[in-house]
Amino acid sequence: MPAITAPRGTQDILPDRSPRWEWILRSHADLAQRSGYALLETPIFEATELFERGTGAGTDVVEKEMYTFRDRGDRSITLRPETTPSAVRAVLQAHLDQETRPVRVRYAGPQFRYDRPQAGRYRQFWQVGVEAIGEHSPGFDVEVVDLAWRYFQSLGIEGISLQLNTLGDLDDRTRYRAALVAYYTPHRQQLCDDCTRRLEINPLRLLDCKRDSGLVAGAPDIAGSLSAPSREFFERVQSGLRGRVPYRLNPRLVRGLDYYAHTTFEVWHESLQGAQNALGGGGRYDGLAAVLGFPSTPGVGYALGVERILHVCETAGLGPNAAQRTAITVISLDAASLNVALGHADQLRGAGREAVVDASDRRLDRRLRNAERSGSRVAVIVGSDEARDGTITVRDLVGRSQTTTPAAALGEHVDAILRKQQSDA
Ligand code: AMP
Repeated sequence: MPAITAPRGTQDILPDRSPRWEWILRSHADLAQRSGYALLETPIFEATELFERGTGAGTDVVEKEMYTFRDRGDRSITLRPETTPSAVRAVLQAHLDQETRPVRVRYAGPQFRYDRPQAGRYRQFWQVGVEAIGEHSPGFDVEVVDLAWRYFQSLGIEGISLQLNTLGDLDDRTRYRAALVAYYTPHRQQLCDDCTRRLEINPLRLLDCKRDSGLVAGAPDIAGSLSAPSREFFERVQSGLRGRVPYRLNPRLVRGLDYYAHTTFEVWHESLQGAQNALGGGGRYDGLAAVLGFPSTPGVGYALGVERILHVCETAGLGPNAAQRTAITVISLDAASLNVALGHADQLRGAGREAVVDASDRRLDRRLRNAERSGSRVAVIVGSDEARDGTITVRDLVGRSQTTTPAAALGEHVDAILRKQQSDA
């Protein structure tokens, strides 16, 4: 019988990579928390309609990539392909916006998209993100873009660029759409199949074409379709970012749905290739709440891809790189002394030290070698003699010397050995 392996497009984060993974998640949680964003947990599955309406029926994600199934109650359920619609639903369902505005929330968790797996593209991947829900002012667009930027700075990642654009408001986009249709229609014959459809249903997405034959370069910019208030909104976003975030204007950065408004941005990394070069993206979604059936409520946020951040950090050697090592191994020599060994380990851990208990039935020399290989620097050996007379054998796995100490002084004794190892190194 062949052994079962992980599903295509998924990966395990094994202990050799998980310290860095955890560091990436923790760094985001810490920074966002210190910036006022509280943790929000939402279900990994939701009613399919949430994403059909919230992510948008015209997007690749909804058209081709969702994990949708009927549950035993015959409801259509979807594994979330993104978290923004869930966050808006959760905040407005609980009326949090009636207490304070904006409601600042952060999240971290797996997302699911049935895409063709390749480097940097998985079917289950993690995102960390924030949403500021309830305010229309450009100051919050600045806050969110700035937070994304500061996060990448805090990890020490170099070679990133922040791409910024505006989509204006609904009227601006109606004008822009007409301008795009006027530009593309005479070139209809050169369009790929997807784009022929986009020309009819969602012309903004023509700018996203992956098989473009040179048409995108000549297409009109949104700038020509912006109203004066929309231009002013974008100017205020830029003036807030100037001198803090070295953004680049990118008029090709679009999101093709009506409920997106004004600011849109992506963070690109120079080492990532082609369509998979984005570490994250975000923007303003003032019309989202209304399409979900809630009172109209503005919002702005971002989502960052954890696997891609991990890849960049691994390549650049950023963050913790070693598998976990536990400084002290407490070895119980026989069944009778296990209980005492567990007690010693607790006591050692209590003062912030790291201790692992080895209760295997193997020979002592093997167990000492194993402790050494796993990175321990001190072994505490507990047998029935030690358990009886209250003394403990302590072995320095670096200096290879062995001493005994009264149980009460175990912690200090071990500390002294670790200190000596450090000063000898
Ligand atoms: P999006 O919600 O599509 O704007 O995605 C935001 C970020 O999530 C992207 O910039 C990527 O870093 C990451 N991401 C999106 N889709 C995938 C995927 N299939 N596999 C890995 N990361 C992804």
